[in-house]
Amino acid sequence: MAIDLTDRIIQPSPAPKKGRWNPWRRVVQLLCGVLLVALPLTNGMRLDVRRHEFYFAWHRTAAQDLLMLFWVSMLATWALVAVSVLYGRLWCGWVCPQTMASDFADSLKKRLDKAFRTRPGQPRFALSRGVWSLILLAMSVGTGMTVAAYWLSPSDVGHAALRPWTDVPAALTVYIIAAVVAADMLWVRRKFCYSACPYGPLMGIVADKNTLAVRYLNEREDDCIKCGKCVVDCPMGIDIKNGAGQLACINCGVCVDSCNDVLGKRGKAGLIEYRYGLEPERAASNLTWKQRLGFWDATRFWVLATLVVFAGYVGLSLFGHEKMTATAIANGAITQDAAGIHNDYLLTVENGTPEPQTYALSVDGMNARAEIHGASTLTLAPREQRAAPLILTGPATETAPGERKVVTLNLVSPKERAQVKLVFYRPE
Ligand code: SF4
Ligand code: SF4
Repeated sequence: MAIDLTDRIIQPSPAPKKGRWNPWRRVVQLLCGVLLVALPLTNGMRLDVRRHEFYFAWHRTAAQDLLMLFWVSMLATWALVAVSVLYGRLWCGWVCPQTMASDFADSLKKRLDKAFRTRPGQPRFALSRGVWSLILLAMSVGTGMTVAAYWLSPSDVGHAALRPWTDVPAALTVYIIAAVVAADMLWVRRKFCYSACPYGPLMGIVADKNTLAVRYLNEREDDCIKCGKCVVDCPMGIDIKNGAGQLACINCGVCVDSCNDVLGKRGKAGLIEYRYGLEPERAASNLTWKQRLGFWDATRFWVLATLVVFAGYVGLSLFGHEKMTATAIANGAITQDAAGIHNDYLLTVENGTPEPQTYALSVDGMNARAEIHGASTLTLAPREQRAAPLILTGPATETAPGERKVVTLNLVSPKERAQVKLVFYRPE
């Protein structure tokens, strides 16, 4: 059946509200939307270019670790490749923000037409479309603020959106993004998926006969009653009966629920399914648990294994090196006065955490005092390494002339602790 895509995209159908897949797809989309908004607001992921603060997984990383941003981006890219190899274009229909925005815009349009009880050509149709456009414009500004909050502080973004003249660069960021999103939601929507998005053509390279896809079961062709509901309900306006893997098919599964709905009323199973291949024996009930999870061959196993190793490496690099280091060397300067004997050292300390730390200095093994520039504490910025002059002052009564005594210097902060062995010398 030949379908005019252009016409279908202007007049999309709403996805069925019931069914096996669409309620779950809506839940996944809702969770993804909440996550996209929550991440920058809760410091789950945010690169604050003004304050030089990088947050990932609710974990602050210092500006000097921004190289990790590259590896995090590479990990996200590889994760997308791995999901695509294992589960085909599930990303497009279930998680992609472009699909979420298009689904929202199309669904809102239908709901408003229903609420205003209007159709094209009727007087209240323009009112329905006007309200639709205003809601989408407001959503676009909200999206612009959300995206800007990934790069600026949420408070800066809020102020800039409300009073643009007080922070022109931030306001421009918000409203330029909002303008792009508004154009996308008002005019582009699904056209982007089959005309500009590189993901579909790339999937053509990755996909093979074992790739998960929405497929029409040709072996049961005789059961098709040619009702056309799968085509009418398809948000992309295509006919899945023409074959799996069509460039415009986003694997949303709407047609699966539509056909189940039609044939279910006649006591038959639907003719469209998510399947790893076309053969009749690939029905879900015939698969082993490995095949259900998508492990059809060694390539898929290795793709997942490399993802796990890569994620482990990035995770350890980001979160696993929160260890302070401390070393000290005697610089040979030793003096004596009424306060006691003074031994000088060069102390080098690295703060291993992404937060500032204040270390209290104390000495074990001798009744001595440890000071840096006259203070018995040392404060370091996140991840800072500093070399500082340390003076150990001990009483003459605890050592004999010419004695070398090994003592322990303690550096203790609320999050970290280190010990350094020092040799305290009393001159002859
Ligand atoms: S053919 Fe089916 S799975 Fe593909 S886009 Fe249309 S409704 Fe979604
Ligand atoms: S919804 Fe099912 S029965 Fe109706 S045309 Fe599509 S495949 Fe055939």
